[in-house]
Amino acid sequence: MKNIILTGDRPTGRLHIGHYVGSLKERVRLQNEGNYDEMFIMIADSQALTDNFGTPKKVRNNVIEVLLDYLSVGLTPDKTTFFIQSGVNALPEITTYYMNLVTLPRLMRNPTVKNEIKMRGFDEESKGIPVGFANYPISQAADITAFKANIIPVGDDQLPMIEQTREIVKSFNNLYKEVLIMPKAFLPNNEICKRLPGTDGKEKMSKSIGNCIFLTDTKEEVYKKVMSMYTDPTHIRIEDKGHLEGNIVFTYLDAFCQNEHFKKYWPEYNNLDELKKHYTTGGLGDSKIKKFLYEILEEELAPIRERRKKYEKNLDEVYNILMEGTNKANLFANETLKDIKEAIGIDYNNKFLKEIKEKYES
Ligand code: ATP
Ligand code: MG
Repeated sequence: MKNIILTGDRPTGRLHIGHYVGSLKERVRLQNEGNYDEMFIMIADSQALTDNFGTPKKVRNNVIEVLLDYLSVGLTPDKTTFFIQSGVNALPEITTYYMNLVTLPRLMRNPTVKNEIKMRGFDEESKGIPVGFANYPISQAADITAFKANIIPVGDDQLPMIEQTREIVKSFNNLYKEVLIMPKAFLPNNEICKRLPGTDGKEKMSKSIGNCIFLTDTKEEVYKKVMSMYTDPTHIRIEDKGHLEGNIVFTYLDAFCQNEHFKKYWPEYNNLDELKKHYTTGGLGDSKIKKFLYEILEEELAPIRERRKKYEKNLDEVYNILMEGTNKANLFANETLKDIKEAIGIDYNNKFLKEIKEKYES
């Protein structure tokens, strides 16, 4: 069996450090290991429209931002195919056939969708749930299966989508013919990286909430965001005992900090456990820890910023990467659409039409 990797992001804003630890880092690792036949990365503009249909300009403008973010973290067009969802016509057609295999109550049971409906106010009587939005997990199943992808590196909010896709694959293959490949989600090993919370410490870090540290934030912006992070409200004086629970600075350290960081920036401690112990017994101020976190984030973000600058000077080349990738994506998705139509029995070729004509005329 071939190993085909597919992931994507919605162009609803620039990418943030939640994307980085939740999915982008894993994509770069997979790309550089090279143990795959194809790697596709999709900019999901059609999906982004399902809850941003009133602000299409926002979606359009962020396509290039997301692509620049990809290139700046080290994904490269010689190893990865980048494409734009709306440029692949087979995808909505495949979605249509899958819509018959899913019931409305099943769609509405999806916990991520439920949460997003609430966050977007679609549950209010005056608004209502757009059909396109409720349907996006099915369209995501089309995106994954159109490329016969089996490896899907995502954060854990995407698990219900992969589960929905797996159900569709099973139904389709049972009902028609074994043409679809069963995909599997790949999550980061680190628990916190599966769903990095926002700087507010509440919801997951998300472009639509505005609680993000973006890959494009300047040094100064990162410093400001880290220094104003919520810690432990009972930790007033340095000598007070600090608490780790709900302390977002420590959550981020759990996600980003490695022992080498101590050697480099804070040799007083050998590892995070020692730092936590000191904090919880008292005698350690929040600002010192925040500065340490800032250094660690900067170590990751500085080279990303540098790479981005280079690509920003060559926007024609960047657009070209997307156009070429989209052409290639069309070849793959059209091939699968052909298989799907044949499996259902709606592949009306010339031979079929000739048979019908002969039957009709006789
Ligand atoms: P939106 O608010 O528009 O939905 P988002 O910030 O949730 O944007 P997506 O484009 O929906 O970003 O997600 C793209 C990928 O990044 C998915 O695989 C998702 O699981 C992952 N991801 C997004 N946010 C986080 C996070 N905070 N922690 C870990 N992974 C994340
Ligand atoms: Mg999202």
